[in-house]
Amino acid sequence: MKPTERFFEQVNRYFDAAAALTDHPAGLLDQIKQCNSVYHVTFPLERDDGTIEVLHAWRALHSSHKLPAKGGIRFAPTVSEDEVTALAALMTYKCAIVEVPFGGAKGGVQFDRTRYSETELERITRRFTFELIKKNFIGPAVDVPAPDYGTGPKEMAWIVDTYMSMRPDELHGAACVTGKPIAQGGVRGRLEATGRGVFFGVREAVNDREAMKALGLEPGLEGKRVILQGLGNVGYYSAKFLREAGAVITAIAERDVAVTDENGLDVEAAASHLRETGGLSGFAGATGQIDESARALELECDILIPAALEGQITAGNVDRVRAPIVAEAANGPVSANASDALDARGALVLPDLFLNAGGVTVSYFEWVKNLSHVRFGRMGKRYQESAGRRLLEAVEGATGKDFADDAVARIVAGAGEEDLVNSGLEETMVSAYHSIADSARRHGTSMRSAAFKAAIDKVAVVYLERGIFP
Ligand code: NAD
Repeated sequence: MKPTERFFEQVNRYFDAAAALTDHPAGLLDQIKQCNSVYHVTFPLERDDGTIEVLHAWRALHSSHKLPAKGGIRFAPTVSEDEVTALAALMTYKCAIVEVPFGGAKGGVQFDRTRYSETELERITRRFTFELIKKNFIGPAVDVPAPDYGTGPKEMAWIVDTYMSMRPDELHGAACVTGKPIAQGGVRGRLEATGRGVFFGVREAVNDREAMKALGLEPGLEGKRVILQGLGNVGYYSAKFLREAGAVITAIAERDVAVTDENGLDVEAAASHLRETGGLSGFAGATGQIDESARALELECDILIPAALEGQITAGNVDRVRAPIVAEAANGPVSANASDALDARGALVLPDLFLNAGGVTVSYFEWVKNLSHVRFGRMGKRYQESAGRRLLEAVEGATGKDFADDAVARIVAGAGEEDLVNSGLEETMVSAYHSIADSARRHGTSMRSAAFKAAIDKVAVVYLERGIFP
């Protein structure tokens, strides 16, 4: 066990453990595992004060066994070739697990966005997009980015605008990126999708009687104590939906400090404090504050949700982490060594490649919407409502009883875009949980190895049936 193991090596360690459960030829496994190509670009940025700075950026295309490839764009000082390559590999496996027909990719620009103005962020985003266009590393049929750490709908709007101005006659140009604002071709439900998917995944796990019995926990979300790290897009929505379903958020760790309250923190209030002040320090809704934020991961709880960055639970602190359930909302938050230690202790780790796949699932719906140029539900909503109304009228006529107006409205309501997106997301996460959990039991292995095995099998079959080897 190497303490300084690189992120991509750690992902490959998981891959190798799962590959041993398959009987695919070694060469095919190697083809699936390697990263197909990496584009490293540097470009100058003129800062608002007139100085020039050179930024480094990458886009890794891990696998093009299906096209387009898909994966977020990250803005963070940690971005490196190793990081984007590892994250691109996770995207390949993630898409395979949730049966989203994409290859895996990831990109990022290495800088700390908190030190740059809005106009500088726009220049960086547009310039990086331009560099990707020049090398054909972006496009509806080749590679479709999405939001990740440090980026959101605003950056996606700049990306699609830059792409469309360079490729004005591309009919499906809006499908060059997902996670866009609705008015730019986004899909309702994408903003919340990763957190909502985390919620569905955690809910299925805690409702799994066999899994909870093994941990000595009562099934159900009601009253489960949750610690969250990272109150960004993924963390905020995960905590919001879990809380609405009865879980109690007892601690939230941010970059500056962690705040606690055994009776439960108000996630909305904490998020507004973070938006207004840039941190959680001094949040009046908490009963406690921990200055060394990472220490919050060691508090007692039922579910620990790291939703910030990779490498947060490592050999250095895993012995002090007491959570029986670790829900990997972030990508790679648990190092491979720490993951082994959690498995050995009998903790349940819900692995990133399954748990945060809600984002790419709904990105897939957005891409499909952009290619079809029609909002989900537009054709069927009214028809469904009239059909329901006719059925109720027939029942009323036959029974002589009238339904109350609010009951009629509930029963006949047709599905709009958001209903359909959320329903597709729930179906995806619930089915994936049960198929991974069943496989883990069958093979006597961890959820992570079972998830990797499912991904390897699904990618392998594409290569085998197509006979790609010349
Ligand atoms: P984000 O930028 O919206 O939020 C990240 C939050 O983590 C920020 O509030 C930041 O201040 C906080 N943070 C950073 N370092 C921290 C630390 N050391 N301790 C505590 N808090 C810290 O990012 P996001 O989109 O929510 O992404 C978070 C993770 O989820 C990443 O690993 C990303 O790859 C993964 N992910 C995101 C999506 C998506 O749709 N956005 C999809 C799948 C996976």
